[in-house]
Amino acid sequence: RNLKKYFPIQAGWLKKHVGDVKAIDDVSLDIRKGETLGLVGESGSGKSTVARLMLRAYELTDGQILFRRANNEIVDLSKLSDREMRPLRAEMQMIFQDPYSSLNPRMTLLELVGEPMVIHGVGSPGEIKDRVAELLKVVGLRPEFINRYPHAFSGGQRQRIGIARALALNPSFIAADEAVSALDVSVAAQNINLLQDLQEQFGLTYLFITHDLGMVEHISDRVGVMYLGRLMEVAPTRSLFSRPLHPYTEALMAAVPQPDPRGNRTRKRVPLKGEIANAANPPSGCNFHPRCPYAQPKCSAEVPALRDVEGGRQVRCHFAEELSLVGAVA
Ligand code: SF4
Ligand code: MG
Repeated sequence: RNLKKYFPIQAGWLKKHVGDVKAIDDVSLDIRKGETLGLVGESGSGKSTVARLMLRAYELTDGQILFRRANNEIVDLSKLSDREMRPLRAEMQMIFQDPYSSLNPRMTLLELVGEPMVIHGVGSPGEIKDRVAELLKVVGLRPEFINRYPHAFSGGQRQRIGIARALALNPSFIAADEAVSALDVSVAAQNINLLQDLQEQFGLTYLFITHDLGMVEHISDRVGVMYLGRLMEVAPTRSLFSRPLHPYTEALMAAVPQPDPRGNRTRKRVPLKGEIANAANPPSGCNFHPRCPYAQPKCSAEVPALRDVEGGRQVRCHFAEELSLVGAVA
């Protein structure tokens, strides 16, 4: 609720506070139990920062993070000390992009996957070993690999090791940040399928961050679109792709490959004009206005609110209802 992450800008030898970089500017977002919420946007839009704030990996400037625990108790994570946060860390985990750098090369699979249990003081050494062997099976790796080191595995397998580690403490919520973006398409697809199976098997809730719209369309129940620290649109996946309501969403989709009538995939790139603006000096009003083909005088004068519209959707544009935007699917 109303998440903000500001970095102060200081000037001169007195380090006078002259303003803030609004890396995350008033983001409110619901993720429902058991769903996959996709979060898309160009790099620099703040989508990774939102995930890290939600997991309390970064301190937030303002806002609430309401988390429903396995016992249905709702806690505001923003109010908890690091010590109070510890037991909750088991319930929320993150899967990272780079399967090569996110695993310590000097640790065996037993140590890598078992480490969260050691840190949280869960289980005897024998129980941890059994649990790691079981987790390796769950992610499709042979339990006999338990004493090997990560260098013996391919990128896709290493990511499975990371997934096994994330599952070690039975989380209910997993944030995947560009999780499969570094993998070949076919390996990425296998790991996406694995994540979907695991979601069903363990009732997991996912926040799935990616810049790949095809991926997000495939995996998400709902999608949030971020631009320059703000959430611009949230909608069920099908309705977002068939009828975007925000000009930025339309622009992102225009760059996605479209199937042509002969069944070939063609790349119809309609580049966004201009660059993503500097967060230290963001455009006034709607911060997308310098790049928006539909901008009106009102757009640079007034910040549009993220408001509820029909179909369980939200949009942050003054003129959403008047524009007839083109989606990526018919
Ligand atoms: Fe474009 Fe104006 Fe809507 Fe912003 S508020 S997206 S500038 S039409
Ligand atoms: Mg990122």
